[in-house]
Amino acid sequence: MQIPAAFDYARAESLEHALQLLSEHGPEARVIAGGHSLLPMMKLRLANPEWLIDINDLTDLAYITEDADVVRIGAMTRHVELLESEALAGLFPIVRDAERTIADPLVRNRGTIGGSLCQADPAEDLSTVCHVLGAELVIRGANGERSVPMAQLHTGPYETSVEQDEILTEVRWPVRPRTASAYTKVERRAGDWATAAAGASVTMGADGRVEDVTIGLTAVGLDGGTATRAADAVRGQTPSEDLYAEAGRRAAEQCRPIGDQRGTEAYKRHLADELTRRVLRRSVERATAPLGRGV
Ligand SMILES: Cc1cc2nc3c(=O)[nH]c(=O)nc-3n(C[C@H](O)[C@H](O)[C@H](O)COP(=O)(O)OP(=O)(O)OC[C@H]3O[C@@H](n4cnc5c(N)ncnc54)[C@H](O)[C@@H]3O)c2cc1C
Repeated sequence: MQIPAAFDYARAESLEHALQLLSEHGPEARVIAGGHSLLPMMKLRLANPEWLIDINDLTDLAYITEDADVVRIGAMTRHVELLESEALAGLFPIVRDAERTIADPLVRNRGTIGGSLCQADPAEDLSTVCHVLGAELVIRGANGERSVPMAQLHTGPYETSVEQDEILTEVRWPVRPRTASAYTKVERRAGDWATAAAGASVTMGADGRVEDVTIGLTAVGLDGGTATRAADAVRGQTPSEDLYAEAGRRAAEQCRPIGDQRGTEAYKRHLADELTRRVLRRSVERATAPLGRGV
């Protein structure tokens, strides 16, 4: 059995208290949310914090609120709440698509959106969802609040622009009319991390052309989080199988997968191509469905 190195533990009573504890204990302190990424890393001694600052009592950071032009998600919102939210399923079907594939109920009951994004694992599904939805992240520190676009959150694998004495507090997803989204993933078995996955969000114009589109890929080494060249091929065009094929080809070309136990580089490129086609097709179908919220 693997056990972590010795550590001290403090349970924060409020956001201010958590920030104070982080400042007090310095670089050796780490926030713990659901613990489903941090604890396995500690057991493997890949992370050895001397202090764990538990933020599970900050229930005021667990919420989903819907305004006309933005949806706000508190950082302590659990996977299960994202999965079960009817409001999110209507506005951003990509969220339920992705959540259905993440781990198992045990992990989904505890894991949080804040922890998922701050873990910055290249195979993490919600990061792709946030790239595709053009998320804005709210970060709090002792000196106040700042917000960063999703494209600036991850500075490398397992590295973020959230400073040691800061806490991610909120994720904002802009609401766009005539827009729908989708996510699909290939995994070796149910609940596994992605061999590869893709997500897309499509805004349809009144003329039947694609007004705007964002495409994201998971676990295939895509710099910057979105498949920009594939999106460029689709924007302004009339949806068709040929268009999806061109986007898939470009997505496969732009990513940089690494062969591992989940598949060869060539197989992952093939998945990037095929899954890009599927999420584009599905997003367009959803955005143009007569009863869809995206219409
Ligand atoms: C068996 C298993 C299977 C899994 N499968 C998948 C999968 O298929 N797809 C997938 O995407 N994920 C998967 N996960 C990961 C899961 O989604 C985790 O819940 C998630 O990655 C981390 O969320 P957490 O709340 O548990 O974070 P924690 O483990 O508590 O924290 C992770 C990191 O984020 C930091 N952190 C946490 N919250 C904040 C905050 N608010 N502000 C600043 N820093 C913060 C912590 O200090 C730590 O460095 C799996 C996990 C397990 C154990």
